[in-house]
Amino acid sequence: MARVIRAPSEVVLKITSVKGMNDVLPTAEGEESPFNSRIWENVEGVVRETFRRFAFDRVRTPVVEEAQLFARSVGEATDIVGKEMYTFPDRSGKKVLALQPEGTAGAARAFVEHGLGMRDPVQRWWYLGPMFRHERQQRFRYRQFYQVGAESFGVAAPEADVEILAICNTILRELGLEGIELRLNSLGDAECRPAYLELLTAYLRKHADELCGDCRDRLERNPLRVLDCKNEGCRAVTTGAPASYDHLCAPCSEHFERVQAGAKALGIAYRLDSRLVRGLDYYTRTAFEFLASALGSGQQTAVCGGGRYDALVKMLGGPDTPATGFGMGVERICALLAQAKGIPAAHPALFVALGDEAARDRAMALATEARNAGLSAEIDLRGGKLARQLSRADKRGARFAVVLGTTELETGVARLKELATGQATEVALVNLVGELAARLARR
Ligand code: ATP
Ligand code: MG
Repeated sequence: MARVIRAPSEVVLKITSVKGMNDVLPTAEGEESPFNSRIWENVEGVVRETFRRFAFDRVRTPVVEEAQLFARSVGEATDIVGKEMYTFPDRSGKKVLALQPEGTAGAARAFVEHGLGMRDPVQRWWYLGPMFRHERQQRFRYRQFYQVGAESFGVAAPEADVEILAICNTILRELGLEGIELRLNSLGDAECRPAYLELLTAYLRKHADELCGDCRDRLERNPLRVLDCKNEGCRAVTTGAPASYDHLCAPCSEHFERVQAGAKALGIAYRLDSRLVRGLDYYTRTAFEFLASALGSGQQTAVCGGGRYDALVKMLGGPDTPATGFGMGVERICALLAQAKGIPAAHPALFVALGDEAARDRAMALATEARNAGLSAEIDLRGGKLARQLSRADKRGARFAVVLGTTELETGVARLKELATGQATEVALVNLVGELAARLARR
């Protein structure tokens, strides 16, 4: 195991964050905007509210799992497991552990471990947590990133997939994000996929010399992955490849039809995409991605991906349990929001500035009264120069500001100033919070 190398303790040592792993801060903007904490708050609020409406329960599974869980479920031959996973030996030396690269494997592991297949196989879960992938450094591609996701266990009916699509759609709509395109495919199941894979492999073999080195490799081990390759030569080949949705067995075909009909009925627009295979092996039947074009570079970027994984729970030792779900990249959503709407200010409802030191106690009492009434309030507890305090009120985007000093304490009256208009009104201190609440309610 690697040793931590320490500098002598008298030397000042400046340590930076690990490459590809980011701080989420209220000050982040511009290039850093995917890491603005106010945008994150907004996203998390919408996510939580959406799952409340869909009656999903939040779960939390460990960030660390045994590495073989992901090797088995996501697949050895995928980029995620083969190239990107952070693995390390446990201190006991007996196990190889991994930082989770995605959320579904851990959720399915928990479902099996707690015997939920017997007790109550219908489980509707959501999660929000950090995922880790040792990816090449690129825009909107990080080594620690967050995913919000859902897993709906125990329902084979296509409407469960439609519900998952509806959740994604609701989150994006409630955030006010537009121009995001849903792509839909069906990968078939154990019945019809083998024959399709043979067809696909035969087609790809004919074009092997036009494929990139990686894909010539994939062609035999995992031919679906070739459809996913971004290389231009490979894309030219796969444009003409047979589509899995043209080779489904009757039950898979019916399932796919009903997913599409269900989406249409809910007003969820989509486009079929025969090359959408997802970078994980556990999918059966439905597979989808939401793509955004606004993230720059002209190329579309996936903000969300998911689908059905009917075989996974059984493969992990549980009873036959159909399941469907999605994972959405929080940073990419935040970047889109920053592009579309900019970075929001903190917007405290009330900013209290100290006219002089005598007013500290009264200022604390006033802010407390506002907070107890459900309003956000901030005091410039540094005191000192009034101009500096008021410029802070501006910077914070406060709605109203009040200055408390000896005069205000003596007269019991203060000037409540609306910062956007500059309009100030004299208000008795005892009525100030009530007046503030009334004014905020009027807008
Ligand atoms: P991509 O095609 O962009 O590599 P993926 O297919 O590997 O995405 P999934 O495993 O489906 O991604 O994860 C779901 C979502 O998580 C993606 O749509 C994306 O928004 C986000 N995501 C995946 N990898 C990263 C990463 N390295 N950095 C930031 N977000 C990511
Ligand atoms: Mg990827």
